Amino acid sequence: NKQVIFKNFVEGFPKETDMYVKTSSVSLKAEEGSNAVVVKNLYLSCDPYMRTRMTFNPDPSELSSFVPGYPVQGFGVAKVVDSGHPEFKKGDLLWGITGWEEYSLIRNSEGLFKINHTDVPLSYYTGILGMPGMTAWAGFFEVCAPKKGEYVYVSAASGAVGQLVGQFAKLMGCYVVGSAGSKEKVELLKNKLGFDDAFNYKEKKDLVSALKRCFPEGIDIYFENVGGKMVDAGLLNMRDRARIAVCGMVSQYNLSKPEGVQNLMHILHKRIRMEGFVVFDFFNQYSKFLETVLPSIREGKVVYVEDIAEGLENAPAALVGLFSGQNVGKQVVVVARE
Ligand code: NDP
Repeated sequence: NKQVIFKNFVEGFPKETDMYVKTSSVSLKAEEGSNAVVVKNLYLSCDPYMRTRMTFNPDPSELSSFVPGYPVQGFGVAKVVDSGHPEFKKGDLLWGITGWEEYSLIRNSEGLFKINHTDVPLSYYTGILGMPGMTAWAGFFEVCAPKKGEYVYVSAASGAVGQLVGQFAKLMGCYVVGSAGSKEKVELLKNKLGFDDAFNYKEKKDLVSALKRCFPEGIDIYFENVGGKMVDAGLLNMRDRARIAVCGMVSQYNLSKPEGVQNLMHILHKRIRMEGFVVFDFFNQYSKFLETVLPSIREGKVVYVEDIAEGLENAPAALVGLFSGQNVGKQVVVVARE
């Protein structure tokens, strides 16, 4: 069983060498009545939140840290090969938290979702039909409460979550602008993902004027994935009664001291609602989410861009690459295709 092992807690930016590949010969078995399953992992998801699990965190109420010497954990798509759980049988496909290894014994099957629709790529359950898809859907429709014609700004717009927020906003009849970190990503946003406009934030010395140019009348909805300087620039460009959904702050995850936000007073003057959210609170709505998003994929109303890395050996580089914007679209690692 080939595994990607977490070496030790990380400070600053994570490196490929914070993980290593080894082969284990322990055989995995799901005892009857144990509610455990043994799965063959097919697709693994690389997600920015995994960085927080690389830091030692003694607080059990928060996301637990990875354990040095054990496989990295994350969302993935897998096939059941042995089951002690009444609801999962051999051959079933599922998505949920699994290990970065060829085969995993999942003792806590509470957070596993069975995959019933396989007429779309299976890897989609790491992205558009999995956790990032739920994040975009719940964050945009529930937290932002969008109305037709509103002005929407999405940061980290070409990524796993951002590309969907933009497309959902277009389906709602909003005007959408995204920012991303390369020319290629900006082209993707404008030409493939249907954004009305996009800009490369790395080329802009002055983010406040960059946003002002895109939104002369101001922003109604800001879907925040990045944090730091971008929040300050966003705040100065918000309209009255605007909403900011704080989804993530990827620019801050590797800093020992987060950058301070200067313009918080705008929240008060402009009656802005700035609300953080965590996707797990919405997982009970997964079937409702599937009912709306699956048809949109089948009808071609929503497209999804994936960045596929082949093989477990390439998983550490793929994960680390998220923090320098190496990924174009949802970063997936293929362990096996069936
Ligand atoms: P992405 O697919 O967007 O990958 C991360 C991207 O972040 C990179 O491609 C890069 O794009 C950008 N980035 C990296 N470093 C920086 C930086 N210093 N400044 C600005 N941009 C940077 O990731 P996801 O779509 O999976 O996640 C997007 C956000 O959503 C993250 O903040 C994540 O933590 C959050 N999230 C929150 C959830 C919740 O429940 N609240 C659930 C899931 C995700 P670029 O080239 O454009 O810089």
